[in-house]
Amino acid sequence: MADADVIVVGAGIIGAACAYFLTQAGARVVIVDPTAPGTVCTAACMGHLVVMDDSEAQFALTAYSCRLWTDLAARLPRPAEYEPRGTLWVASTREEMAIAEAKSAFYRARGVEAHVVTQGEMAALEPALDSSLPGGLWVPGDSVLYATNAARWLLDQSGTTVLREEVVAMGGGRATLDDGRDLEASVIVNAAGAAAPALTTGLPIEPRKGHLAITDRYPGVLTRQTLELGYLASAHGQATESVAFNIQPRATGQMLIGSSREFVGFAPGVNRAIVGKMLERAQRFVPCARDWHVIRIWTGFRPCTPDNLPLIGPAPGDATVWIAAGHEGLGITTSLATGRLLADRWAARDSAIDPVPFAVDRVAAGAHG
Ligand SMILES: Cc1cc2nc3c(=O)[nH]c(=O)nc-3n(C[C@H](O)[C@H](O)[C@H](O)COP(=O)(O)OP(=O)(O)OC[C@H]3O[C@@H](n4cnc5c(N)ncnc54)[C@H](O)[C@@H]3O)c2cc1C
Repeated sequence: MADADVIVVGAGIIGAACAYFLTQAGARVVIVDPTAPGTVCTAACMGHLVVMDDSEAQFALTAYSCRLWTDLAARLPRPAEYEPRGTLWVASTREEMAIAEAKSAFYRARGVEAHVVTQGEMAALEPALDSSLPGGLWVPGDSVLYATNAARWLLDQSGTTVLREEVVAMGGGRATLDDGRDLEASVIVNAAGAAAPALTTGLPIEPRKGHLAITDRYPGVLTRQTLELGYLASAHGQATESVAFNIQPRATGQMLIGSSREFVGFAPGVNRAIVGKMLERAQRFVPCARDWHVIRIWTGFRPCTPDNLPLIGPAPGDATVWIAAGHEGLGITTSLATGRLLADRWAARDSAIDPVPFAVDRVAAGAHG
């Protein structure tokens, strides 16, 4: 008899969400990870659950997943720190106000509440922002959470045990562990994040390094997740290096400041020059940030695909290997939709959104600009 119906490799937020929905669909699931659940990229993130509109496919996935998070919100335990803070997108130029208008129309036409805010309205919403900024866009339905604890809760709810082993190979209905044992299942899900290409040759995923800084406590200075509209260009482009203003006020009163993007392989060290640019940018938008004390800085590696959409579904050439990886800077947001899409496939039922834009064979290896 097989060891499970499905083996999930990787216990980050993506593997946890896959285990959660696959077990709900009736699958017997084993999850394998040598590290404690939710401690790799999932622990390095901001935990902003945000609807994004780089493409129709990205919008569909993020909006669907945010709805799933909202449905789950009342059941999430306190340590998951779920808070419906919304997103205030800040324009820094008149041209960016036109982007706010277009974004608002796009969201509203697709059923997501969004409001363009004037200079005065923005100052009333967040008085700490530089009062000369022209306005922005308020999206009240977005939220934030503490992703490591959310991942652990999803795993607990799924009832699956995590085998603390490394998988060294997968394929043909088998996952081979580092002690030489083989586990058998009809499906093996590669949810190994930025490490996914080491297990499935040819996956077009590259690590995209990011820094975050967290401050001492300044309760009430900001109340919304606040970021610049220019963040979209930073996140969606494939530039070697970029920085954008992004601040998340935490329940503790601390400010989580982001964010940076670099293609430098898996080099984990803090890049002081990048952090300097990040903090300067925060101070430009929120002048009182000059007085904040940063108490900790860390880095993480977003699993990045060439078109910024995740890979969700069977791997070409081996129907037993399914991929759930490549979520770049939106993996916390899109984890629930990812798990749901794979569970729908396993249960041979229709999905709420079209899975085709996330098919694994749509982008070739080496396609990164
Ligand atoms: C600075 C920063 C800020 C971010 N902010 C946000 C945000 O605000 N909102 C948002 O939605 N997303 C955000 N993200 C992105 C998000 O963190 C990632 O997309 C998400 O965590 C990816 O989850 P994952 O489960 O695929 O990867 P991971 O969390 O890295 O999990 C992969 C797991 O696979 C395991 N693994 C690897 N190799 C093997 C192997 N051979 N055998 C067994 N197990 C293995 C690892 O140990 C790990 O536990 C941010 C990322 C960064 C870096």
